[in-house]
Amino acid sequence: MTSEVAVVTGAAAGIGRSVAWRMAEQGLTVAAWDCDESALATLEAEATHEGLSIHGWVVDVSDESSVAMAAIHCRTQFGTVRYLFNSAGIQTYGTVLDTSAESFERTIRVNLFGHYHTVKHVVPLILEGGGGSVVNTTSAQAFQCQEGVLAYAASKGAILTMTKSMALDLAPHGIRVNAIAPGSVDTPMLRQAARLFSPDDPEKILAEWGARHPLGRVGTADEVARLVWFLLVDATFMTGAIVNVDGGLTVQLM
Ligand code: NAD
Repeated sequence: MTSEVAVVTGAAAGIGRSVAWRMAEQGLTVAAWDCDESALATLEAEATHEGLSIHGWVVDVSDESSVAMAAIHCRTQFGTVRYLFNSAGIQTYGTVLDTSAESFERTIRVNLFGHYHTVKHVVPLILEGGGGSVVNTTSAQAFQCQEGVLAYAASKGAILTMTKSMALDLAPHGIRVNAIAPGSVDTPMLRQAARLFSPDDPEKILAEWGARHPLGRVGTADEVARLVWFLLVDATFMTGAIVNVDGGLTVQLM
């Protein structure tokens, strides 16, 4: 294997899938980590058809032993790693009064511990290769909250802070760590959320959410993937940055 290797979590759908695809199109070998086995198989088959090097591995990022196993497998299959993009996450709803401890814990385990586990186990492979970079995924909801997203907002706020801490700790080792903060992006996650609000007309909800963004629409996963590529590969003097990709959502007074 001679091409550089990127690990992408949540690679079977949405933003992670777009990033995996873009990186493979640029000639990288992509280790695609996701818990959705059948979606990973579809991704792999489509990539093979297009001559792209995307290799699925079933991982639950909330489980440290699963991530550790994936890292060992990655090292055996590909050797060292250059880039890590953390996209795997779940959206949950509830206020402080009606969020169960189980739901709160699950959200924190997938979103926050997921990022911690992957950075902990992939960075040694990046170090072995002589350096590289990491991009984490927070959210506009780390800055400004909606009602009823207690656990999700808490997890994304913590990822924001953790990214800065990781950036400081890893800078002396030649590893940059940045984060993206998306607004609404058209992915399976967003469409599932829209169906919760309006099972009969989710398109209307997507249009309403889009209209709240100053650019007047929701974003696409490919628009986010272009930013992720820039941060991972080109932004060689950026670390600890949290970059909004939100159509202006977080800069306006409501
Ligand atoms: P998505 O649901 O479309 O895709 C997420 C992928 O992560 C899925 O393939 C899923 O199987 C995988 N995943 C979930 N739990 C996992 C686990 N425990 N282990 C491994 N894989 C797991 O979501 P998306 O919209 O592409 O979101 C990607 C990231 O962007 C998430 O962290 C999300 O919070 C964040 N984000 C999304 C939006 C948006 O509007 N779509 C906005 C802000 C932030």
